[in-house]
Amino acid sequence: MSRIYNFSAGPAMLPREVLEKAASELIDWHGSGMSIMEMSHRGKEFTAVAEKAEADLRELLAIPQNYKVLFLQGGASSQFAMVPMNLLRGRKTADYINTGQWSKKAISEAKHYCSVNVAATSEPENFTTIPEPSGWSLNPEAAYVHYTPNETIGGVEFPYIPETGSVPLIADMSSTILSRPLNVSKFGVIYAGAQKNIGPAGLTIVIIREDLIGGERPGTPTMFSYKIHAENNSMYNTPPTYGWYIAGLVFEWIKQKGGLKAMAEINRRKAGKLYDFIDKSAYYKNPVSISCRSWMNVPFTLVKQELDKKFLEEAGKAGLVALKGHRSVGGMRASIYNAMPEQGIDALIEFMADFKKRNA
Ligand code: PMP
Repeated sequence: MSRIYNFSAGPAMLPREVLEKAASELIDWHGSGMSIMEMSHRGKEFTAVAEKAEADLRELLAIPQNYKVLFLQGGASSQFAMVPMNLLRGRKTADYINTGQWSKKAISEAKHYCSVNVAATSEPENFTTIPEPSGWSLNPEAAYVHYTPNETIGGVEFPYIPETGSVPLIADMSSTILSRPLNVSKFGVIYAGAQKNIGPAGLTIVIIREDLIGGERPGTPTMFSYKIHAENNSMYNTPPTYGWYIAGLVFEWIKQKGGLKAMAEINRRKAGKLYDFIDKSAYYKNPVSISCRSWMNVPFTLVKQELDKKFLEEAGKAGLVALKGHRSVGGMRASIYNAMPEQGIDALIEFMADFKKRNA
């Protein structure tokens, strides 16, 4: 069966091997006579699946013992609220770094709960760069510092982890988690919607340092309390069992491919090839400063913007889909997460070169 190259920003491609394994286990999981979807989340079969997935994620990211891993619902967007609801711990203000559309959403949600200090912003540069840390106005009284290591829409990412001293660092890693090794101990909380590098939409992963659990503001809904989910091993209510299972298969797949070091090597090469081609083409353009270009989301425009529609149509016929840029920025965007094979990048570059030749 043939598969197209899907450049969607999310839900995004999953590894073929994962889909094949899930298909082979769909109706009768390991001789149980039922699908994972039909099992009790508290039964011994699903408990083993859940524990294995968590253990593999801990191994991949080398998550220290003093961090909890939560398997939640509600998407990264729910975390925009859960972070201030749980982490203000009586303080009145939090620092946010504004590097794009997702930072802005996190900021506007946090404003319901606290005074937000935008300690740095690249809005004046149209979000094509990361503000220099020397110019940040961090507040030592802030409850935490929130940032978006990779902006999925703008295709701009931090080439380093910000230094925030004793103020906990909170990261929306939705579109970069598992793309390379990570020093988890630098963070208070890492969260990510699953639908890019982890698994299907519907699952949200939160990695939280234990000392930050338990300070939720009065009136926090039970389902929005990190403490409740941590105390109940993410089984306070029915978790997204199928998403959790598929995430487990993805973690196994990453391990089989050589772990996050191997992912980083492949991702660097994939992104490097595409940026290199764009920069040399004089026909396609990427607006982001070279030092902070995303490995995962590569926006680009055609010099002849009137050809956008034709480009997308012909790309689709060539089996290269979902290349339309986000509605807020236009142009094109190639999202090239872990599961996008390197051949997909080669096929895209070949198509772009041919399109240029025919439409120069
Ligand atoms: N943050 C980032 C960086 C994202 O890319 C997205 C989704 N594209 C979100 C948050 C929102 O995630 P969700 O749809 O899971 O709420």
